[in-house]
Amino acid sequence: MPDYKAPLRDMRFVLNEVLDLDGHYAKLGLEEVNSELLNAFLEEGAKFAENELAPLNRSGDEEGCHFENGVVTTPKGFKEAYAKYVEGGWPAMGGDPEFGGQGLPGSSSIAISEMTGTANWSWSMYPGLSHGAVATIEAHGTDEQKNAYLPKLTSGEWTGTMCLTEPHCGSDLGILKTKAEPQGDGSYAITGTKIFISAGEHDMAENIVHIVLARLPDAPKGTKGISLFIVPKFHTDGNGGVGERNGVTCGSIEHKMGIKASATCVMNFDGATGYLIGPENKGLNCMFTFMNFARLGTAIQGVAHSELGFQGGLAYAKERLAMRSLAGPKNPDGPADPIIVHPDVRRMLLTSKAFAEGGRALVYLCAQLGDQVKLAQDDEERKQADDLMALLTPIAKAFVTEVGLEAANHGVQIYGGHGFIREWGMEQNVRDARISTLYEGTTGIQALDLLGRKVMMTQGQALRNFTKIVHKFCEAHGDNADLKELIEPLAAYNKEWGEMTQAVGMQAMQNPEYVGGAAVDYLMYSGYVTLAYLWARMAAKAQEQIAAGAGDEDFYKAKISTARFYFKRLLPRAAGHKGAIEGGLDCMMELDAEHFAF
Ligand SMILES: Cc1cc2nc3c(=O)[nH]c(=O)nc-3n(C[C@H](O)[C@H](O)[C@H](O)COP(=O)(O)OP(=O)(O)OC[C@H]3O[C@@H](n4cnc5c(N)ncnc54)[C@H](O)[C@@H]3O)c2cc1C
Repeated sequence: MPDYKAPLRDMRFVLNEVLDLDGHYAKLGLEEVNSELLNAFLEEGAKFAENELAPLNRSGDEEGCHFENGVVTTPKGFKEAYAKYVEGGWPAMGGDPEFGGQGLPGSSSIAISEMTGTANWSWSMYPGLSHGAVATIEAHGTDEQKNAYLPKLTSGEWTGTMCLTEPHCGSDLGILKTKAEPQGDGSYAITGTKIFISAGEHDMAENIVHIVLARLPDAPKGTKGISLFIVPKFHTDGNGGVGERNGVTCGSIEHKMGIKASATCVMNFDGATGYLIGPENKGLNCMFTFMNFARLGTAIQGVAHSELGFQGGLAYAKERLAMRSLAGPKNPDGPADPIIVHPDVRRMLLTSKAFAEGGRALVYLCAQLGDQVKLAQDDEERKQADDLMALLTPIAKAFVTEVGLEAANHGVQIYGGHGFIREWGMEQNVRDARISTLYEGTTGIQALDLLGRKVMMTQGQALRNFTKIVHKFCEAHGDNADLKELIEPLAAYNKEWGEMTQAVGMQAMQNPEYVGGAAVDYLMYSGYVTLAYLWARMAAKAQEQIAAGAGDEDFYKAKISTARFYFKRLLPRAAGHKGAIEGGLDCMMELDAEHFAF
């Protein structure tokens, strides 16, 4: 596997040119944040990711985490890299200045998260979850809780976890059993077992702050009876340090297919002292702050695996010689041509490139919307950004990870048999990518969220808000002859998206189960059209820069060329998903469970 190189040029293109973050920050009144500052972060972040984290990716995979008597030791070098990350002030970028944070908007660190994640996804899970814990305590904690936990979580000296899953339930949190009993002093005794808890126990920080879902005595059944608690591994000593050990321990760690250097823990809560965050029985609503954060984080993972598959595949495709180009020898002095001459290898490379760069644009757009939700002065602007982000989050999480897995597989395929061999790193990329469509809500669950909650429950309004934006973009570029081959199909798919949604809505009125049968294809269709919009935006910007004589023509021409590939070779897949939806539900439901037998 060639060394990971942070794609800084593309990151700057998306941040500065397509999303115009300078204009965005000025509009939000963030005068001290601009592209110059962002560029400095990008340079430093790239050095950290390439020099400190990427070299630990394979060794971390081979060594894995160690478990002995409740103690988890991370692979060699992980702890030291984390100490450097904390020393560099990286965890504090987005935190509230009142608690030691730098108060920077989320969009300013999204590329840093991508770089650390692509260099070493397992490592990035440790700080990644802490950001979600900070956001949750900032949004729902009391002043006392903020003072007790935020300074150390913000600095990275402590890390956080999200504790939802139990042995009998992951998707269906309504049936979780962990109990929280009032102790008479305002705290609660938390008892139960959580499984699959990422970074639940490790040796990288002096304390771990668990954010835990549990039920109060006599709480209503289902999701309406869940509350949220802070459960620290060590109690705080009142002076910002740690005191006695709390009653939460790691029972074991999982042996997994991928992300082996990320500790996935069984956590036993044995009457551990916990503190309620937010109102009683509204815990799931509060936890959505964490979950939305984690969903965007997982969407970054999709970009990461596409990028790694692409970078690895490209290096190999230029070097490996096999057969001759069908158009005549391209390397006449050599024994054969490099495999990059073959259309099918190019198909795989361009697919990975289109998913990496398109996914990046989508995830960064979501981060920009997140800034608006948090900081826009105008209520209406805030609401619009919130609605759009709610619609795009399940698409970003599920679509970008599904295509990330595809791109990771192309990485293996481009290497031929060598892709299956460990030393090239491509098989690790596939194994690490596999989890991304499962955790933080499986693709099936994200699809139900998109079609059921976000689209149907708003009577299509959330979708119309977005298709209106796409429609306006198409109108604005309607006279652009050079972009016709992108704008015309985009406008057609955008219209069809609304019509198809109406048709699904009509069927769902007669049979609510229809939504379940249509959801994943609907999500994939939505993903292909959303990425088409972003590819058209990127092509339009590239064309504008060429016309303005901005220089760097090769970069912009490659953008336009990749956009054309996306529209001609990937977007047509949307039609297949539409066809599958129209295939209906009956063929999926007619077989009784017992007749599935083989
Ligand atoms: C490595 C790893 C790290 C993790 N990290 C964390 C963590 O830090 N914190 C945490 O709390 N959890 C974590 N998880 C748990 C993860 O979020 C869950 O595994 C995931 O949400 C799925 O839940 P489940 O495994 O119980 O599957 P189930 O809920 O049992 O689902 C099984 C299958 O049924 C499908 N399904 C279920 N219900 C429906 C439905 N209504 N309609 C259609 N299909 C349905 C699902 O899509 C899935 O395909 C982690 C898991 C792993 C493997």
